[in-house]
Amino acid sequence: MFRPKTAEEIELLRINGELVSKTLAEVGKCVAPGVTTLELNRVAETFIRDHGAVPSFLGYDGFPAALCMSVNDVVVHGFPSDYVLKEGDIVSVDCGTLYKGYNGDSAYTFPVGEVDAETRRLLDVTKASLYKGIEAAVAGHRTGDIGYAVQSYAESFGFSVVRELEGHGIGTRMHEDPGVPNYGRQGHGAKLYDGMTICIEPMICAGGRGVYVAKNGWEVHTADRRNAAHYELTVVVRKGQAEQLSTFDYIEKGLTC
Ligand code: MG
Ligand code: MG
Repeated sequence: MFRPKTAEEIELLRINGELVSKTLAEVGKCVAPGVTTLELNRVAETFIRDHGAVPSFLGYDGFPAALCMSVNDVVVHGFPSDYVLKEGDIVSVDCGTLYKGYNGDSAYTFPVGEVDAETRRLLDVTKASLYKGIEAAVAGHRTGDIGYAVQSYAESFGFSVVRELEGHGIGTRMHEDPGVPNYGRQGHGAKLYDGMTICIEPMICAGGRGVYVAKNGWEVHTADRRNAAHYELTVVVRKGQAEQLSTFDYIEKGLTC
């Protein structure tokens, strides 16, 4: 049975949302050709711990790092490594925090130096599809309305939507009900209520939507080895319009952290 989050709970989720947003911005400042994803992971882990929080991904089901760092054809759940980023790569950074018993969870795909026009378009469309999803995340709608909004937008550009992974509710646990697929039919799926806190996170492929999991059991790759992008924000569902609990403004507007 659904229970709306209280104002106090939403405040704690907002604090976490702010922290993941700032952490992603700190990481973004360091994304450049020549940097390893392991170095970026260290930046994030230090920043999170300096703010009195814990990187919630570290040890989650055995995940080995603070961040998921997914380069190029890795859709999500990439391990930070000694891979050296190079001009033209894209790196999807997914960050989770745990502070005062509540979670933060957001992701952003950064271009490394200059990327080609098609890759730039993949990033722009994936991020815009997330905002389309947020627009649909209104009390009284259903998760299928969010999925439909994301999917119809992304596919109108010839891109495809990963089906195997989805967004989710968030609270004291990082993954709560309901699941929030990035595809679907309007009017179908779980009902959205005022005070429901969810993460919307489109994973969009430049080519086909087929994916496979690497031998390490985590890294999700596109089957055709083409690029994929991933953007995620946490919102609270409201009547009329959802309220964002995390933001890309620290990354994009150069706000000081
Ligand atoms: Mg995430
Ligand atoms: Mg998530």
